[in-house]
Amino acid sequence: MTEQTRLQDPRSLYPRPPFPAQPQPAPGEARRLNPPADHGETSYVGSGKLTGRKALITGGDSGIGRAAAIAFAREGADVAIAYLPDEEADASEVIALIEAEGRNALALAGNLRQENWARDIVGRTVAAFGGLDILVVNAARQQFREDIAELSSEDFDKTVKTNLYAMHWIIQTAVPHLPPGASIITTSSVQAYDSSAILLDYAMTKAGIVAYTKALAAQLIDKGIRANVVAPGPFWTALQPSGGQPSEAVTRFGSQTPFGRPGQPVELAPVYVLLAGPEASYITGEVYGVTGGSGTVG
Ligand code: NAD
Ligand code: MG
Repeated sequence: MTEQTRLQDPRSLYPRPPFPAQPQPAPGEARRLNPPADHGETSYVGSGKLTGRKALITGGDSGIGRAAAIAFAREGADVAIAYLPDEEADASEVIALIEAEGRNALALAGNLRQENWARDIVGRTVAAFGGLDILVVNAARQQFREDIAELSSEDFDKTVKTNLYAMHWIIQTAVPHLPPGASIITTSSVQAYDSSAILLDYAMTKAGIVAYTKALAAQLIDKGIRANVVAPGPFWTALQPSGGQPSEAVTRFGSQTPFGRPGQPVELAPVYVLLAGPEASYITGEVYGVTGGSGTVG
């Protein structure tokens, strides 16, 4: 029996709070998380589900996007990751992990709030891999503000540009390149359904991602392209200690779930693999909640 098939209590599989306070500037770095996150580096085992596929993942340097990047490569896909220039250290680890699988990797450092760059990453991926058939729109900005009075126009603009405009620019540019059978996956959040008081702008964009993706799915099935949403609950990523939550909330992150712990990015990887691949041939316009048992997504 392998480590992967051995039955284990999911509550005790991974670290539980309390965690140390660990504020870091945005964009946060996965390599500074304490305890370290599991993105599947040593734990994800592939089985050829995405052989020969060509994927682009925004925010693929760290967290949930990194887990998807590692899993896609282990399933046989070439993988491009887009990220901010400050995140080169995290990104280079992911590039090495993709190449270790014998797959092609492409590093795309730049700010997706700039329309030219958001559109450019699509053409660069198509040029490098000879096509594109999996698109994961996953990059996001999350900066908490305790009071509506503190939520500046600049904040609002940055969050909407990162989470909504960039998504539209990337998808609009990608669609003409996507063949029948291709898959688009967006990353929303439980915040779309159960919004925190301190995340007005972020929660709004996450609800927008759900509506946009459902409309997109309805439109693109005429081209044989599927589109689905993943809506995570609390996952142990650098988004939280880099201004996504107050420091004190990070120390007890995930304690409110029935599991008593946050999810680890690798625990989302099978959902991205399923939605990307041919086994999901009848799945489009759906929202996949992986919330840690809150039951709020749907
Ligand atoms: P993360 O910080 O590891 O990943 C977010 C990534 O977004 C960053 O690595 C960065 O590369 C990218 N990004 C942000 N602004 C950018 C910009 N202007 N240009 C280019 N790239 C930019 O955190 P994560 O938690 O893995 O976040 C991934 C997705 O998961 C996000 O959409 C987030 O909203 C969603 N999510 C996370 C949680 C959670 O608890 N961690 C819960 C629900 C949803
Ligand atoms: Mg990052």
